[in-house]
Amino acid sequence: MRQTNLFPKTRKETPSDAKSVNHKYLVQAGYVNQLMAGSWSLLPLGWRVVRNITQIIREEMNAIGGQEILMPLLHPKEIWNETGRWEKAKEVMYQFEDLRHKEYALSFTHEEIFLDIIRKNIESYQDLPIALYHFSTKFRNEPRARSGVLRGREFLMKDMYSVHATKEDFDRFYESVKKAYLKAFKRMGFEVRVTTAAGGVFTENYTHEFQVLAEGGEDTIYYCTQCDWSWNKEIFEKEKYNSCPECDGEIKKSNSIEVGNIFPFGTSYSEKMNVTYVDKSGKSKYVWFGSYGIGTTRVMGAWVEANHDKKGIIWNSQLSPFDCHLIELPGAKEVELTYSKLVDQGLDVLWDDRDIGAGEKFTDSELIGIPNRLVVSEKTKDKIEYKIRGEDKEKLYSRQDIVKLLKDKKTK
Ligand SMILES: [Zn+2]
Repeated sequence: MRQTNLFPKTRKETPSDAKSVNHKYLVQAGYVNQLMAGSWSLLPLGWRVVRNITQIIREEMNAIGGQEILMPLLHPKEIWNETGRWEKAKEVMYQFEDLRHKEYALSFTHEEIFLDIIRKNIESYQDLPIALYHFSTKFRNEPRARSGVLRGREFLMKDMYSVHATKEDFDRFYESVKKAYLKAFKRMGFEVRVTTAAGGVFTENYTHEFQVLAEGGEDTIYYCTQCDWSWNKEIFEKEKYNSCPECDGEIKKSNSIEVGNIFPFGTSYSEKMNVTYVDKSGKSKYVWFGSYGIGTTRVMGAWVEANHDKKGIIWNSQLSPFDCHLIELPGAKEVELTYSKLVDQGLDVLWDDRDIGAGEKFTDSELIGIPNRLVVSEKTKDKIEYKIRGEDKEKLYSRQDIVKLLKDKKTK
């Protein structure tokens, strides 16, 4: 894509109300636009990043047997009354009345909606297990919406729900989701800590959060420097260990950002909503139930919090909105040919064809943060100068070699 056509232009000024790095850079570089506190439009660059995140998650959910669906966002009060959450979750839920005095909520999660689908569509143990997921919007009545895309009143999420005939089958699936989440986050380039936490308005059981260590994070976790043990602040402060309870290793405290959360519900929801199946011996039983979330817009914000420098964002190849940034400077030859050779290999190229100074082009390129930068100018002659965002070294390549290098990087 030619940068002359890219909407919007980058901004010179940082937004005055930006309290966090992701807010500052995502707005300045043109990834997102704020409507009001906690409410964001994803612009072309931001939507590209979220689509990349979504695709990785989709592949990993499909790999463990998840099937993609789409559930509605407008919910009748009655369904939330079945579990008592109309009252219990009042603080986070947007609730309102229409002109005929019927009450509704905007979705802040979908447990009740999923279980309603299930109870209308299963009969016996042979219909189980089932795992369904969707990517959609969540609404939360958030009084502190001030951390850029990390804490929204409206945000995108992948949420999956599963039901099982037995506890054993549920436990097996819960562990497979944990592994699939770790795989998805690893593919995205994150190092996450699986952190034990309390379930809030969701459950009285302990749940598992997937936390990214980041200075700008609003959460605090305690983790072992030797093994995988990690607890969030809320439950750690009740126990106050001096060393790791698993291996006696040193415990460290860190700010972090929660990017995913999984909940084991047992049969509590299915008892309240009467979601049953008939087992082998003909007895009616409650299904075992769990839910599994990843905030996709939040993942984008978390990446920026953990991967930036003074000049802007530093994407990796997996999440970047484009595979490479081709910067055309005066005197460059056959730029169009270079561009089409890259595109022919399936690479997504942002071609800076704008009629502005070299300095401004480099500044914008570093702000936007595409990992592979290519420069063509009078100086590079028939070669192409290649640099990785965040590194200092530049190297000259022939057109053929740079196309091959970038293609290999993408398919790796
Ligand atoms: Zn340990």
